[in-house]
Amino acid sequence: MSTGRTRALRLTRWGGPPILTEAARAVPTGEEVLIRVEAAGLCRSDLHVIDAGQGDLPYRLPFTLGHEVAGRVMERGPAASGPAPGERVVVYGPWGCGRCAGCAAGAENYCHRRATLDADRVGTGAGLGRDGGMADLMLVPSGRLLVPAGDLSAVQAAPLSDAGLTAYHAVSAVRPALRDAGASVVVLGVGGLGHLAVQVLRATTGAQVLAVDVREEALELAAECGAHYATLLRPGTAAALRTRTGGFGAAAVLDFVGSPSSLGLAVEVLRAGGELAVVGSGGGAVTVRKPGALPPGTRISLPFWGTRPELDVVVGLALKGSLKVHVEQFALSDAVEAITRLRSGTVRGRVVLVPD
Ligand code: ZN
Ligand code: ZN
Repeated sequence: MSTGRTRALRLTRWGGPPILTEAARAVPTGEEVLIRVEAAGLCRSDLHVIDAGQGDLPYRLPFTLGHEVAGRVMERGPAASGPAPGERVVVYGPWGCGRCAGCAAGAENYCHRRATLDADRVGTGAGLGRDGGMADLMLVPSGRLLVPAGDLSAVQAAPLSDAGLTAYHAVSAVRPALRDAGASVVVLGVGGLGHLAVQVLRATTGAQVLAVDVREEALELAAECGAHYATLLRPGTAAALRTRTGGFGAAAVLDFVGSPSSLGLAVEVLRAGGELAVVGSGGGAVTVRKPGALPPGTRISLPFWGTRPELDVVVGLALKGSLKVHVEQFALSDAVEAITRLRSGTVRGRVVLVPD
């Protein structure tokens, strides 16, 4: 299909629901690149966007949802660079100003002009105030936002651009503490991000990986992904984890939950000079005080999404077979049902929409 109308899942009013509408096929101008979408991931961030009230997010309506996108380059604007027509790509989802030092280093997730962009309600990325990939076609603002996907399956590639990249970036934040021989790392929450973090840790570090979740089936998933030990969160978990670290405590904790109970456990199991990365936004808080509950030398980070060079590495790990995403696939025409299923908590793995 080179002409005619195409479909897109558009958020047209705050509080949703989004609507699958027809739109004219876009023609790329300037640096823009038009891609044919092969798969688009749907995650809880989308629910957060759909459910937002007027003024909650710095976005203008309407826009097409979809921040986890894989596809094939169809056509490029006259000034576009990067992958050529016919190449398969993953879209790097966080879009910054493209010109500050952060963006120049590929870290558009930490664009230094974010506050200005938010004040102007420019949007934070694909499907986040800007047109995303829950559609047949997607217009990407610049070739700099595309990473070659090789022959990786689109259904695997799409969720890697958020869940895989966020997990990898969180591991990067704690990596210095994992260089010591015998270092242990605790992964709190083995869901969409956590199951990938366990795989990244096994593929890129020699650390002992200890996983914690509140669901039995998540412990099985952790073991499948290569965790050395997995346990339910309950009284005594901190002591059990400490025993596993030879009594020293963990060199690093990756908290994908961020709730009061997960952060409480994180503080209890961290060793002196350890790294705590808080990824989940579950409403928990840590008091930073000297002296206080946090061991001396603790470094805390709040990783958000990831950088474009890291997405290259993540795709490379998946192409080698080191990263496998658990997915449940839906047709794009069933997007509204997929959203309902995700909301009800009855999907297993990451939801991926495929144009039908
Ligand atoms: Zn996502
Ligand atoms: Zn920037």
